[in-house]
Amino acid sequence: MVSPSQEQLKKYASLAIRIGVNIQKGQPLLINAPIEGAEFVHYVVEEAYNAGAENVQVEWNDEVLTRMKFMKEPLHVLESFPEWKVQRLTEHVNKGGAVITIYSPNPELLQGVDPAKFSAANKASGEALKDYRNAMMTDTVQWSIIGIPTTNWAKKVYPNVDVEEAKQQMWEQIFHITRVDQEDPIQAWLQHNDTLRQAREYLNEKQYAKLIYKAPGTDLTVELPENHRWAGGSTVAKNGATFNPNLPTEEVFTMPHKDGVNGTVKSTKPLNFNGNLIDNFTLTFKDGKVVDFEAETGYETLKYLLEADESSNQLGELALVPHSSPISQSNLIFYNTLYDENASSHLALGAAYPINMKDGSSLTEDELKERGANVSITHEDFMIGSAELDIDAVTKEGNIEPIFRNGNWALDFSSVE
Ligand code: ZN
Ligand code: ZN
Repeated sequence: MVSPSQEQLKKYASLAIRIGVNIQKGQPLLINAPIEGAEFVHYVVEEAYNAGAENVQVEWNDEVLTRMKFMKEPLHVLESFPEWKVQRLTEHVNKGGAVITIYSPNPELLQGVDPAKFSAANKASGEALKDYRNAMMTDTVQWSIIGIPTTNWAKKVYPNVDVEEAKQQMWEQIFHITRVDQEDPIQAWLQHNDTLRQAREYLNEKQYAKLIYKAPGTDLTVELPENHRWAGGSTVAKNGATFNPNLPTEEVFTMPHKDGVNGTVKSTKPLNFNGNLIDNFTLTFKDGKVVDFEAETGYETLKYLLEADESSNQLGELALVPHSSPISQSNLIFYNTLYDENASSHLALGAAYPINMKDGSSLTEDELKERGANVSITHEDFMIGSAELDIDAVTKEGNIEPIFRNGNWALDFSSVE
């Protein structure tokens, strides 16, 4: 069997353009993509033009060169980020351009790279691309992240079959998870978005004061700030276009109060941090900050992540994903946050999304901080969901309401997957 078919690739490309970014007539589009994905990117560009996009550009990345750069370039080169690149990206979003990112990295790309180099590069790009990233974190423009099988990634996910077979199996999984294998994927996504809308509207109405997480190795209390907003599924950009930042997505998420996190939490899946794996780790929080941590794998990488800036050891996101979600049911570990985060309830170290606070996108950094939102150059999801996770919500009046039992919703909206 030859997989994927042209028809499937076209359907997937169309999903990215119409549901992912929902490109508008005359709107510029930038596509960040691995060179290995050229064939698929051609379909995406074609669908973009068909939908009325203008000025479609592709920013290619080549992992072989990325790794070479980290191995060979001296630290001082990695400490700065090219100004022309900043200008190109910032100019694109300033003109209201949408962004599609095809995120399919080799999970082991940076194995053996000096963490100091990688941390320096991360810091440099984080600071240089602040405005560009901010345009996405505040939904100023439509943006969407999708994945396609790439050789080294597929090998990591399916280590026991040859690489062509691995890629084929991965395409099938991706088509299933993103509903491309359904008769009308676009209709399926409109329906799925509606289900997520019901969940977030319920939680927004409740305005819980805190959530208490309990699972083996986890006993964590997370306060939610006043006027927090739950998001999930589709969202609306400044130009009024409804779009899906992630394909797939199964989560509803909000921001924790950056100083209101106490207790211990244990990871349930490996975290792939820019090509370095961190696995089986535990974080202990006091008044919002990580005060102690352990990791069976990737201790040094975790340390760099926690020390990236002064608030990268505080939480910026909490997301609820039922253990019964299709990605979770695949029982695969993707070593890719786009997929793994949608298989599992998770938290993120680093920046909060301003959209997770009422009127947050129009607040300054200082105003956001004052109201409990974390501000940082990093945002890294890590998975804490399992079939053993229970979550209780505490109302402002102090009543306890179970919202998750055995990894799934314990709430009334039974239509939520
Ligand atoms: Zn998330
Ligand atoms: Zn996140």
